[in-house]
Amino acid sequence: VIERVVRNFKMIHENFEFTFQYDPKHDYEIRMSENHLEQVLIIVMDNAIKYSDSIAKVDIGLKIGHGTAILTIKDYGIGIPKEDLPHIFHRFYRVDKARSRAKGGNGLGLAIAKQLVEGYSGTIEADSTVGRGTEIRFVFPLYTQPKT
Ligand code: ATP
Repeated sequence: VIERVVRNFKMIHENFEFTFQYDPKHDYEIRMSENHLEQVLIIVMDNAIKYSDSIAKVDIGLKIGHGTAILTIKDYGIGIPKEDLPHIFHRFYRVDKARSRAKGGNGLGLAIAKQLVEGYSGTIEADSTVGRGTEIRFVFPLYTQPKT
């Protein structure tokens, strides 16, 4: 699913560089509808592009932790002030109202993404530095086969 979304973004945003790193040695499974995973990826990758200016690059990573899969989407854009970070997952919250309005959007994307991943016992959080960029991190529980 991730590879497909990245491929589509590459076609649509030719001026952007997208990287996707994951550990192919692992064989793992998360329980989430493909549509929902695709939807949350599109929301976060769209933001990464919308809120980048000079460095047109988005890095996607997938790592396996202790019983979890950690998916990160990192951009090198305008960043989010510390005081705004706790609010960006709230409905209709937008950091810079004027700039955000120019870019379009309602402040709903991240609230929808949060609700979707929480429906699968996942979490979403953000790390950001103004002027350097933002990393959105999803943590999903790994699915383990019931013992027979
Ligand atoms: P939409 O409803 O179309 O998604 P939106 O982008 O304004 O509109 P959210 O995706 O919920 O809404 O994001 C909320 C706010 O968080 C944005 O308005 C923006 O200020 C900030 N934001 C989100 N992602 C990033 C990012 N990668 N870099 C900088 N700011 C971001």
